[in-house]
Amino acid sequence: MSNHMIGYSMAPLIRYVMELKEKKEISDNAAASLIKEMISTVGENDGNKYEATEEVNTSFCGNCGIHVPKGKPLFDLYDFLDEIDCYNERLIQSYTRYGTFLCEDCFRKFIAALNKDFDIESEIKRQVEDGIINISR
Ligand SMILES: [Zn+2]
Repeated sequence: MSNHMIGYSMAPLIRYVMELKEKKEISDNAAASLIKEMISTVGENDGNKYEATEEVNTSFCGNCGIHVPKGKPLFDLYDFLDEIDCYNERLIQSYTRYGTFLCEDCFRKFIAALNKDFDIESEIKRQVEDGIINISR
């Protein structure tokens, strides 16, 4: 049975870490380390990682860490990877420092980094039409 309390309790703390990073009160590396530890703690206590990352994945880019302006899309990297059946673990790790949803610029860079003949515009259109993106709050 899942422990929902740990994930939902960690979510606002992870968001707070991103806000501290945004105000430059802590470094980018400190933020990434704290978030990694917090998500690990959730997993170790039978929590669901998606509950802990829900707030950060609806506001911040998992790669560059910018606070995505309200109303702008955040793209689900794992949904995309499932769709294309591709798992380049090193590349994924380097694009998910803070979360698993990416701003449009980083999503485009990730697709380009895959070095595959891939129609970026069609993929962005598909994610928007299928409603699998998050809209920044
Ligand atoms: Zn980004």
